Amino acid sequence: MKSPTLLDGKAISAKIKDGIANELKKRGPGKNPPTLATILVGDNPASETYVSMKVKACHAVGILSKSVRLPEATTTEELLAEINKLNDDPSVHGILLQHPVSHGIDERACFDAILPEKDVDGVTTNSFGKLSMNKAAYFPCTPYGMILLLQEYGIEIAGKHAVVVGRSPILGKPMAVMLTNLDATVTLCHSKTKDLPALVKQADIVVGAVGKPEFIQADWIKEGAVLLDAGYNVGNVGDIQISVAKDKSSYYTPVPGGVGPMTIAVLLLQTLYSYQGKFSPPLAG
Ligand code: NAP
Repeated sequence: MKSPTLLDGKAISAKIKDGIANELKKRGPGKNPPTLATILVGDNPASETYVSMKVKACHAVGILSKSVRLPEATTTEELLAEINKLNDDPSVHGILLQHPVSHGIDERACFDAILPEKDVDGVTTNSFGKLSMNKAAYFPCTPYGMILLLQEYGIEIAGKHAVVVGRSPILGKPMAVMLTNLDATVTLCHSKTKDLPALVKQADIVVGAVGKPEFIQADWIKEGAVLLDAGYNVGNVGDIQISVAKDKSSYYTPVPGGVGPMTIAVLLLQTLYSYQGKFSPPLAG
């Protein structure tokens, strides 16, 4: 068997970011660059780190950022009012509401208050509906990042059996829809799934989106499978037992340096698209 190929999210995301920076350099004189607004509610240290990484990445390509910080005690109504202000602000092209918001807030209502034209993180019900119908939209960044990686490496998706483990609204579920749109046969697994190892053993493409360190065991993996690990757990460990499983794979994403950097690149790309008045195109093989 051919030795496994590492899917280099760091290198591919750098290429996408260079393309964005070059595109922004071409804008006419006196034209302001795009702005991404970030909203952080409460003081979850992991969320603070994620937002500051995204803001840093914006600045590196020439996208401006506008930061909104709200206290832990913020109510749903107060957060909705902030989102509406950003919706109405013509200088803001994209809005990122960092998940999770503090306890007691209706997070879904707040996501869904973001205008579809500014939903560059792809979290609204509206965007999910368009994705389901394979229409142009902003797509959730982590699954779209994984699809762009597969496409960049020319990995065939049509006709393959993909097993996605995890069905959260911004990760596992949209990944299953994207793979379906690209003609994979998809099994979407979750905490009530029976005999998960037997299902994973049938997979040509395995997606780890569980949030449990090394949950997907190496001995569940079929020889030659493509392994996409979205998990990011304490200690830089993913959801797949990748150190062993990679030797059975044809392609695999490392953690870190695989899916994480692609997520940020897609956020920047969709912010650029919003500035240009367009959506990400429907998925096509
Ligand atoms: P989540 O909302 O907690 O969802 C976890 C999913 O895993 C749920 O659908 C759950 O099933 C399923 N699950 C839990 N235990 C299971 C089990 N024993 N067997 C099968 N399925 C099980 O998590 P998430 O937000 O999707 O995140 C998942 C992971 O991705 C985390 O490690 C997170 O840090 C990472 N992540 C990374 C990025 C990035 O940029 N790289 C972005 C987002 C998330 P039920 O639906 O039945 O509860």
